[in-house]
Amino acid sequence: MDSGERDLELFLAAKHPGLLAEQQSNGACIIRGVLCSQLYVQEHLEYKLYTADNLKVQDDWLLEDLLGNLEEILPIKEAISCIKDAREEGNIYADILALNKPKEYRLQTNDACSRIRFCEFVDYEQHYLELEVPSLRLLQHSLPDCVPLAEMMVKSARSLEEVLILFRKLLEELRPFYDNFMDIDELCHVLQPSPVTTKHNSRVFPLKERVFLKVTIVDPFACIASMALKIIGPTEEVARLRHVLSDGLGNWDPELDMHKNLLRIFDLCYFPMPEWTDDPKQKEQDDEDKRCNICFEYRLDGGEVPLVSCDNTKCVLNCHAACLKEWFQTLMEGKTFLEVSFGLCPFCKAKLSTSFVALLDDL
Ligand SMILES: [Zn+2]
Ligand SMILES: [Zn+2]
Repeated sequence: MDSGERDLELFLAAKHPGLLAEQQSNGACIIRGVLCSQLYVQEHLEYKLYTADNLKVQDDWLLEDLLGNLEEILPIKEAISCIKDAREEGNIYADILALNKPKEYRLQTNDACSRIRFCEFVDYEQHYLELEVPSLRLLQHSLPDCVPLAEMMVKSARSLEEVLILFRKLLEELRPFYDNFMDIDELCHVLQPSPVTTKHNSRVFPLKERVFLKVTIVDPFACIASMALKIIGPTEEVARLRHVLSDGLGNWDPELDMHKNLLRIFDLCYFPMPEWTDDPKQKEQDDEDKRCNICFEYRLDGGEVPLVSCDNTKCVLNCHAACLKEWFQTLMEGKTFLEVSFGLCPFCKAKLSTSFVALLDDL
């Protein structure tokens, strides 16, 4: 895509969000979609093959001028409606035009104007909301899956504007949820999920060698009250750290965020971060060392990395929880492993900690 085309796209998105440009090989450009002008809203307007001969286009006009003047120069054939009337009739296209506020968020529609997407919200850049129009059926959104947005919309949002107001209100209410994860994402080596998105409500990161912490916020509207902390690692170490954790939780400081409280509880200055290397060979070697001993991959499609080790510190076992589960299920006694124990290490037969079961919750 050349920069001219990109500029055109940006211009259309900002000024005429219902229009899409298509560059032809002969240098011509077809613009199609829904045109929203100051006065008129037209559905499925498609004009092709206009030239300077049949349109009153002035020689010195740029595309911007042309689009700005379209409503005056186009021979209008289809029924058009004034915004005022359209509003009274509840015309969704009039709502779209009224809601196009490029400074607050970006509004995009597909060329048939059957889908509308709000994105790049100020202060919440990664968030998006996509709806089917005119039905207002929820298609995609960036809030955690445990937030019942579709139900909330049915209950309290009847127009496009009300949906948008509801969504932005929820973003405001979820601010503490995202703020609490912000330092963890920046200052901890988050291993799962990968990549982290605005939809995830848990994080797994190393606490010390072979030991990991899994933080889950069960209800994003009540962060600290619904926080669940799991320590994952060799049996003895987990038992010891669970005591440290339960003592520490009593001294939780509500003035500090989750990251700082966790550092205090475990008496750390920082959580372990990977050693930084810019040597690609070293990096490749590191990745090789971290591979799962069962499937020989490092990261699985769902983002999981091998975190399971056994209680025997000399054992090399390092595998994905899911691979180990599959391994046990192929064994006769596998039927009971979740209820009774995580089983024995397939390599050295030492004990495996039941704490790793917490890694299977997300699968
Ligand atoms: Zn594996
Ligand atoms: Zn082992």
